[in-house]
Amino acid sequence: MHEMSIVESLLTAVFAEAERHGARRVRRVKLRVGKLQQIIPDSLQFCYDIATQGTPAEGSQLDLEEVPITARCRRCGQVFEVEEFLFLCPACHVADVETCTGNELILETLELEVV
Ligand SMILES: [Zn+2]
Repeated sequence: MHEMSIVESLLTAVFAEAERHGARRVRRVKLRVGKLQQIIPDSLQFCYDIATQGTPAEGSQLDLEEVPITARCRRCGQVFEVEEFLFLCPACHVADVETCTGNELILETLELEVV
């Protein structure tokens, strides 16, 4: 499952950070995810709950912030939000665009319990 591999790499980063700070438990994790990653929030939560069982992150809160997909037209420079994966400039109606946001997969906040 796509979500499980994301959770696994997320937790690798989380545990590395927790160890660096000598934290005993992880309280909250906030993840910024671009819509291009095509994550299903419920699946992500489900995978997170499974993957954190028996770890210092068990029972911690997972917050998800979705980042919209935006692109910039190479002809007129307009930045627009991409809906339905339609990479078409609303002004020029060409697909000569570059993606600006939507690919994010960022561990934004991490709350640890340091004892
Ligand atoms: Zn344009």
